[in-house]
Order: sequence, then structure tokens, then C-alpha cells
Amino acid sequence: MALAIFQFPCLSDNYGVLIHDEASGRTASIDAPDAAAVSAALDKTGWRLTEILTTHHHADHTDGNLALKTTTGCTITGPSYEADTIPGIDNTLSEGDVYDFAGHPVHVIHTPGHTLGHVAYYLPEDGLAFVGDTMFALGCGRVFEGTLDQMWDSLQKLAALPDETVVYCGHEYTESNLRFAMTIDAANPALVARGEEIRALRAAGKPTVPTTIAAEKATNPYLRAGDPKVRAAMDMPTAPASEVFAAIRTAKDNFK
Ligand code: ZN
Ligand code: FE
Repeated sequence: MALAIFQFPCLSDNYGVLIHDEASGRTASIDAPDAAAVSAALDKTGWRLTEILTTHHHADHTDGNLALKTTTGCTITGPSYEADTIPGIDNTLSEGDVYDFAGHPVHVIHTPGHTLGHVAYYLPEDGLAFVGDTMFALGCGRVFEGTLDQMWDSLQKLAALPDETVVYCGHEYTESNLRFAMTIDAANPALVARGEEIRALRAAGKPTVPTTIAAEKATNPYLRAGDPKVRAAMDMPTAPASEVFAAIRTAKDNFK
């Protein structure tokens, strides 16, 4: 049976998301940005929290861990690489591990860059990916702990997932990402069209997340670092795509 999914905004611009398997009654929270917001989502859905899957250690993804563990008795699973910084962690996972969520395989993809131990969770049978702060709609995470090369490799792993994969990310940053993307890739008709959709969604108070791998490959400037139009805009016609990516990510850090 298909998993039920409930996404909700929380904190200033985070998304929380619950996945639920009806037959077993299991419910996982992908990250736990805020215990009160996750509890409210559980009340709204009537689901009982059985587990938390953590993408990375930042407070806006783990602050709810201990309170939710106390109130629900849930288990907490997260990346082995930064287990010592994830509150309440019970189980650790590494690249290539497969976690069983009620018969739905969850593949662990190590995506260092934003943090060194960051992981994404990919459910091939459900066509779902939870990518935390590695990739955003039209964006990618700020490179805090890893190197720009590591972030490029991590994004390439996500870009290699099937086009139709539905991608949930940790934040609603899309409109600001759009403004930046347009400074580089305004000659891309797919980006222009998506920009109109994004502005309409936000004006109506609706989320722009989830996205898909196909949409990101067509419009996300970081994934398009090897495209001739993007290379031209960056004045880097022959540099390796990884270097074009690094220049774009660095430009975004300084973009107001
Ligand atoms: Zn983060
Ligand atoms: Fe975050």
C-alpha cells in the first residue's frame, strides 16, 4: 500500500513531514524540527509516532527529538557519521544501508557538504526521497562542514535518482532561490515557467515542496552547472562542471 504523507510548515521556514503505513500503524517523522509542531501534526492526522529518521544534526532538524521520544516512546535513527551530535539517537545508518519502514525499503545515501554526516533517505518502491538540507527546490544547502566538491558529488547522487522521484526537502526557500536562479539562468524557458508557478503558489500561501528530480534537473542552477547556458552566464565555458557549481554556490552565499 502507498504510504500516506503529511507535510507541515514549522519554525520560520522549515518543513516537517510524517510518513504513515496504514496496515502496520507505523509513523515516521523525517527530522523533528519542533516537538510542538510535530505533535500538532500527529493530532491532526490521528497517527501515532513510532520513529524519527534524522537527516543531519542541525538544531532545526533535531530540536524535537528528546521531547517526542519522551511523549511517544519513538525510536530515533540517523547517520552514523554524526551520531554523537544527534539527541536521543538509538540506531545509526551509513551509506548503502537499507532501513525497513513497515516493508518499505529506505535506502541511505550519504550526502556530505551541508554537514559532514548528512544523509538522504530514498524509498525506491514509493518513488520518494527525503533530502534534508542537501537539495532544495531550485537550490542546495549552504556548505557549512564539507567542501564544495563534496556537495557537488552529493547533488550528483541525488540527480541520479529516477526523474519521477518526489523530493521532500527541509525548507521553503524556493522564492529566494528563484530570484537567484534568474540572475544566472533567465534564458531557460523551463525556469521561467516554473518561476510563474512558484510565485502563484506562494501568493496563495501554498508550499512549493515537494519537487521532483526531473524538475530540479531542468531548472535548479546548481544541477545545471554543466549546461552551456549556465556556463556562459558564469563566464566559465570550459571549466569542469564541479568548478562552475562551486562558483554558483559561492555567488549565492553573497547574494542579497
Ligand atoms: Zn541544516
Ligand atoms: Fe535546516
